[in-house]
Amino acid sequence: MKQQIFGALTAAAIALSAPLAAAAEVNVYSARKESLIKPLLDTFTEQTGIEVNLLTGDSNALIERMRTEGRNSPADLLITVDAGRVGLADSLGLFQPVDSEILTNSVPASVRSPNNHWFALSRRARIIAYHPDRVDAADLPDYETLASDDWAGRICVRSSGNIYNQSLLASLIHHNGAEAATEWASAVRKNMARSPQGNDRAQIRAVAAGECDVAIVNTYYFGIMLSDPEQRGIAEQVKVHFPNQANRGTHINVSGAGIAKHAKNVDNATALLEFLVSSESQAWYAEVNHEYPVSSNVMPSELVASFGSFKADDLNVSVLGELNADAVRVFDTVGWE
Ligand code: FE
Repeated sequence: MKQQIFGALTAAAIALSAPLAAAAEVNVYSARKESLIKPLLDTFTEQTGIEVNLLTGDSNALIERMRTEGRNSPADLLITVDAGRVGLADSLGLFQPVDSEILTNSVPASVRSPNNHWFALSRRARIIAYHPDRVDAADLPDYETLASDDWAGRICVRSSGNIYNQSLLASLIHHNGAEAATEWASAVRKNMARSPQGNDRAQIRAVAAGECDVAIVNTYYFGIMLSDPEQRGIAEQVKVHFPNQANRGTHINVSGAGIAKHAKNVDNATALLEFLVSSESQAWYAEVNHEYPVSSNVMPSELVASFGSFKADDLNVSVLGELNADAVRVFDTVGWE
């Protein structure tokens, strides 16, 4: 009995003194998969001595977890892979404003929330992939063009449940209005070569295989396929077209991160965010995941640069989150599976 009490007291004493003795740390909830974030986090720890505790999972599950954990949430930083998701987290009040000149100087205004609740860590363009033997890129200037009868039975695109499509449609709602965006979604639905299936890479493969002539996909999937010896031959048959070059520019999406409202390690989380937008981290992302750096001061990888330079839509990507529910409704209305 005596020993038990002693044991309990020791445990309590350790628990009480732990915060003083604990190593500096930061807790990260990440929808970005481990292989695409862990090496950077390890470098951060090496450079700063701040330990990073990483929990990876699906965006929606992590957001739901933070919401139910409330002020008891251990999360200091949430990393998501789409503007729509990071915007959803923000609308649920899961973030706090971050006051950092490094962040506001490194991340252009169009790819961070206007209230500095979250910041892009990388950018990607959602482009039109096409088969050069069957399509003249001059015939598809804009996303809007895909609604024309000329494209009947020729389009491959993934399901409407996919957040990248929701964000693209949100941008069309913003630029063209809900009515025009609904007509567009309905026409593209009718022009599909097959019902929506598979991920972005599957759409590129379908274009190569002749199932369809064009597809809507994110740029980095081309990078992933072209740098993989097993998929390169397929991706090489398909080309990248940046739409809307004569007007607003190609639709841009981001991976982004914000500091949790109930973060216990705000300074460490801020330091980590600043590290993730540093030129060093940005160059790593550009090389490994074939995305565009947030700042044009950092060059994309040679492979990504080979797609050509383009005009990007400078719509603030927080709008994609704000219009997400509208986009989902439009997809449901037109029966885009
Ligand atoms: Fe992706």
